[in-house]
Amino acid sequence: MEWEMIIGLETHVELSTRTKAFCSCSVSFGGLPNSRCCPVCAGLPGALPRLNGQMVDYTARLALALGCQISPVIAFDRKNYFYPDLPKGYQISQFHTPLGREGTLPIRTEKGEKQIRIAELHMEEDAGKLIHDRETGLTQIDLNRCGVPLVEIVTQPDFRSAQEVLDYLERLRLICLYLGISDCKMQEGSLRCDVNLSLRPKGSSQLGTRTEMKNLGSFRAVARAIYAEALRQQQILESGGHIRQETRRWDEDQDRSEPMRPKETAADYRYFPEPDLPPLRLDRKLLERWRWQQPELAHEKLERYQSRWGLSEEDAQLISKSRGLADYYERLVALGTDPREGANWIRTDLLRLLKERGEGTEKVPLPPAMLARVISMTKEGRINRGKASQVLEHCFATGEDPEDYCRRNGLEQVRDRELIAQTVRQVLTDHPAQTGQYRAGQEKVFAFLVGRCMRALGGKADPKLVNELLREMLNS
Ligand SMILES: [Zn+2]
Repeated sequence: MEWEMIIGLETHVELSTRTKAFCSCSVSFGGLPNSRCCPVCAGLPGALPRLNGQMVDYTARLALALGCQISPVIAFDRKNYFYPDLPKGYQISQFHTPLGREGTLPIRTEKGEKQIRIAELHMEEDAGKLIHDRETGLTQIDLNRCGVPLVEIVTQPDFRSAQEVLDYLERLRLICLYLGISDCKMQEGSLRCDVNLSLRPKGSSQLGTRTEMKNLGSFRAVARAIYAEALRQQQILESGGHIRQETRRWDEDQDRSEPMRPKETAADYRYFPEPDLPPLRLDRKLLERWRWQQPELAHEKLERYQSRWGLSEEDAQLISKSRGLADYYERLVALGTDPREGANWIRTDLLRLLKERGEGTEKVPLPPAMLARVISMTKEGRINRGKASQVLEHCFATGEDPEDYCRRNGLEQVRDRELIAQTVRQVLTDHPAQTGQYRAGQEKVFAFLVGRCMRALGGKADPKLVNELLREMLNS
């Protein structure tokens, strides 16, 4: 029997606000254990939460970018459960009125574009970290992460393969980076996802029993976990067994998952409105401003670079992957550089130089005007392509203007028609044998004669012009 995979995702993104969701502790990663912690974080009796406006701002921007409907009232609920990394005994989350609902994110599949439906998007706080010491058998707790603002994005079960999931995650990551609301570092846990997966016979319209997989710390782990879980479920179903609805933990070292606990339902959490945080009405003007300020997103640029500027998918992807690089590229084009040529220079020279200097693409130190000038000098035939790379390298390192540098070092190509014609005439006089051979139909001597002319001009002549004049004189 053939099986179809049905996958839904719950993704948590840690917001890079300055302070935590409900207190003024810093959210930065790392630091001494329990050094970013206060009575609110520790859930001490009587400590009261205070809403961080930046968290609402960031979440609303993401909700708008995903095309969600925005709830006019922001309210929080308590999600009750006991776990040592959550000292309050409940998590402040949004259950009854999530900030955003019913959005979409387009992904690319082999069959073209596909819309992944976003069921909802809500704010909540993160829990602390438990550190299990195998040697002593003791467990320590670090509350630095307690209360860090999170946005959870829940999709409908719209994915049919691991590849679709990875494409979605990459696009979501780029959206957050473009909006500047999270650094989305999977290795530091600021982007995490849980995978809900079930199988059903191909062609069936009923959903099977699903499991939820947690603890997926990298794109690779997500892909591995999906393959492994699909295979596990298939083996159970094919041997006549039933899938248990449960939460499973993915073990990246062992490359397999193990059961953690039976899957809870909403009723288990005894949600109720958070009494310490009054509901907040979202100003319509504020919403308009967020909508208006939204930048063009990575997948929109990807589309435009290909359809309007004629870039290859590879180049368009490479450039739109970083907002800094995309901004740089667009400034380059605005300066009159041909879009495809500009992309070509970025892919070859610029990225190589950035890599050699250990620079990222978010803030390119070479002004776009400088690159634009080197490109136009090459195009006008004033310097050849090989020299142009050297010029760029020098200007990148020193900040010197490319025109000045070329002038100072005599790098500009000789484009003086009269001078080149004179040299060509001399070369032909000096090589009567080869000239005769060419005229007798031996085309390959031509390259030899070009070489002689170039050498006579100190390697600085415009090769196009040399070719043209040489051909003209040989044929006359
Ligand atoms: Zn705190």
